[in-house]
This record gives sequence, C-alpha cells and structure tokens, in this order.
Amino acid sequence: MQVAVLGAGTMGHGIAQVSAMAGHDVQVRDIDEELVADGLTAIESNLEEGIERDKVTQNEADATLDRLSGTTSLESAVTDADIVIEAVPEEMGVKHDTVTDVESHVAPDTIIASNTSSLSLTEIASALDHPSRAVGLHFFNPVHIMKLVEIVTAEQSSDETVERARQFVEGIEKTPIEVMDSPGFASSRLGVALGVESMRMVEQGVASPEDIDTAMELGYNHPLGPIELGDVVGLDVRLDILEYLRKELGERFKPPQILKRKVRAGKLGKKSGEGFYIWEDGEVVGTSGDWGDS
Ligand code: NAD
Repeated sequence: MQVAVLGAGTMGHGIAQVSAMAGHDVQVRDIDEELVADGLTAIESNLEEGIERDKVTQNEADATLDRLSGTTSLESAVTDADIVIEAVPEEMGVKHDTVTDVESHVAPDTIIASNTSSLSLTEIASALDHPSRAVGLHFFNPVHIMKLVEIVTAEQSSDETVERARQFVEGIEKTPIEVMDSPGFASSRLGVALGVESMRMVEQGVASPEDIDTAMELGYNHPLGPIELGDVVGLDVRLDILEYLRKELGERFKPPQILKRKVRAGKLGKKSGEGFYIWEDGEVVGTSGDWGDS
C-alpha cells in the first residue's frame, strides 16, 4: 500500500515509521527540506534505539528506511497514495487547506485521514468534495510505542472508509477503537476528566499529589498517576483542552484555579522543570510547594 504522511513533526515521523515498518511504501512531506530531514533522522534514531533494545533487527531497520522517502512536494507525496494521513498543526484553517489540496491530487477512492487530537472531524471533512472518504486516525505519542489508535468517524465518513481505516490500523499492529466524532473523542475526554478531578483534590487538600498518584498507580494499576501525567503532557496543553471541553460539554470540565495559576506562572510541568512536581533531567525530584491555596 502507498501511504502519504503530511507533516514530519512529533506525530508525522512516528506515523511514517510504523507504516513503513509494516511494509507500506511511505512518503513523508513537510514544508521545507530541513524539517523533512529532521523527521527522517528522528526515525533513524528510533530504529537505532530499537536495535539496541533488541526490538528491531538491522535488516528490519534497513528495509524500513528503504520504504521511506521524504519530499517537500505535496503533489508527489500524495498522487499515488491509497491513504493520506495528515499530521500538520492543530488549526482548522491549516487542516482545511491541507485536505483540500490533497483532494485535488488523489484518486477518488483515496482515504484522507486526520491525526487531529481535538478538532471536529466532521468540520475537517466538510472542506472536501467527497467527504465520505474522511476519517480520523488519532495516534498517540510516541507513535512507535503506543498501541492505541482512535478511529474517529465524521458524520460524513462512509462505512467503507471506516472499514478500510480499521484494516490499515490493524495491519500496522496497532489496536483500533471506534469513536463518534465528539469533543475529546474517548481518550482525551476520560483522561482529562480524571486529571481535572485529581487537581481539584490537591487544591482542596484531600491528599498530596504523590498520594493521589499512588492511589491510581497501586489501586487501579495505572502506569502513571493523573497528576504526574498532567506534568508530562504539559499543564498548558491540559488547560487548553479543558477550556475547549468546557465550552463544548459543560462546567464539569471547568479548569481549576490551581491549574490556571501554575500556567500563568510558567510552571508547565516536566518541560519547564516545575508543575505539580519539581523535575530535573526528565525525572521527578520533589513536589512543588505551590499547591494553589494562597
Ligand atoms: P508538530 O508541530 O511536531 O509537527 C507538525 C509539522 O507539520 C511541522 O513539522 C510543520 O512544519 C508541518 N507542517 C505545517 N504545515 C504543513 C503542511 N501544509 N504540509 C505538511 N506539513 C506541514 O505537531 P505534532 O505534535 O506532530 O501534531 C500534529 C498533529 O497531530 C496535530 O493535529 C496534533 O493535534 C496531533 N496530535 C499530536 C499529539 C502529540 O502528542 N504531539 C498526539 C496526538 C495527535
């Protein structure tokens, strides 16, 4: 199968990698040569790490790289594609321009998939002349490790498109779930619900961040507690999603003050060195003293 991936960033390079590892010919497109090269380099280093960890053989890595090529030309990336997966920035205008451009170059039965993590698939599909070919394929970061892909069905997605998308996902050894196009899909809506309640509990002094995280790690077998996960994802990202879900789904997603205060103070979690925890070299080394109670 011919796969085109648009955007060679965090998600695009990972989607290109897992598609090529599964035996598909993959073209990855970004807007300039350097970004394309960065994406391909990131794939090479993932594969090298895989070899070091005995997860990938040298032959598999070589064959994967042989099946991959990069380009800045949208037309040459998508013209022969059976499926195009866009992983361009999360803005409706950019998504609309991208899928419209794609449709002008592809065959009538090419699937146009979006990796959007929050935008309405139905709205993205509305830019197409043949919107029944649109579907969401929501991968998780890092793509080469995370097994889940949410297949998001737009109002317009045909059953055939959804079935072909499911076969593609299973073929690249990911586990699909099917979700109706709705705010936060399944994963973000549930993940954020747990995250926001855990922050309210910290704010109310119910328990410390460590004890709340331990409750979910040992009591429910979560690999990471909800507070630490928020720090890893980024508190600014969490706040954006909450504001969107509040607008769409109501007050149960109202962002707590403690979260707003931390984001205003630049305490964004792991990436800034402090969130609910203190971070050094990517590891938790303490708990932030700022619990939002002043
Ligand atoms: P990113 O910024 O790392 O990468 C986006 C890339 O798209 C950039 O390299 C940019 O140059 C390129 N680009 C911009 N316009 C383009 C165009 N017209 N054609 C081709 N490339 C173009 O972003 P990302 O984190 O990979 O996110 C991409 C999409 O994936 C977004 O919709 C995002 O919501 C979604 N997503 C992200 C994550 C995550 O954890 N980062 C998880 C799931 C889904």
